[in-house]
Amino acid sequence: MIVATRKPFTEIKDLVSGHRKILIVGCGTCVSVCLAGGEIEVSILASQLRIALGLEGDDVQIDEAIVERQCNREFLVLLGKKKNMTDYDVIVSMACGAGVQLLGDVYDQKPVVPALNTVFIGIEEGPGIWAERCQSCGNCVLGETGDICPITMCPKGLLNGPCSGSRHGRCEVNPEIECAWVKIYDRLAARGDLERISKVLPPRKNSRRAHPAVATHEAYKRRFVKDEKIV
Ligand code: SF4
Ligand code: SF4
Repeated sequence: MIVATRKPFTEIKDLVSGHRKILIVGCGTCVSVCLAGGEIEVSILASQLRIALGLEGDDVQIDEAIVERQCNREFLVLLGKKKNMTDYDVIVSMACGAGVQLLGDVYDQKPVVPALNTVFIGIEEGPGIWAERCQSCGNCVLGETGDICPITMCPKGLLNGPCSGSRHGRCEVNPEIECAWVKIYDRLAARGDLERISKVLPPRKNSRRAHPAVATHEAYKRRFVKDEKIV
């Protein structure tokens, strides 16, 4: 999932300063799971803003909303059926950066400001702890590396074995963590699949990291061509 953290309150307050009617929109998917932008976090931010702006004598109206996925246009259109978006001076998005941008595209007459910092694609490691696992490189090598991502888990992003700095299974860049390549070796060995480690992985294709990237499912490409009679 995409992991995000909330921006400092003063930064959010500065972004909405001068506006009287504020809508805070949370997202019910990734950022809800990582406790950054779900229903409860929307409610907490709304209360903080009401108190802080109220203490400064500002007469503000702060409304709250949650959509199932802010990165999905249909849910944002549904939001417009529940809330009169033209009523608001500013929309505060508590989604990842993709959600903020789509909200801004759909309601482009209104300023949309982010309340979160999007930090990485990761997993839940324990209660309240999330850890990065993938940099969306576009050319996944996990099938060769025992399901451990060398690009993410090795601070140097090495694709073909460890650097010379690994000591006693720890990483030279960050001794707090295990060397990713020691982990890869151990896992492949445990699975009886160690011959994979001698396979030389080709250099990363940075063209696959061209931004902004677009991915279109084959089935949808065909449907689009048929329905729109493009060819
Ligand atoms: S190799 Fe690593 S960064 Fe690339 S897609 Fe796979 S998990 Fe993500
Ligand atoms: S010690 Fe291991 S994890 Fe750390 S930088 Fe070197 S190869 Fe990567």
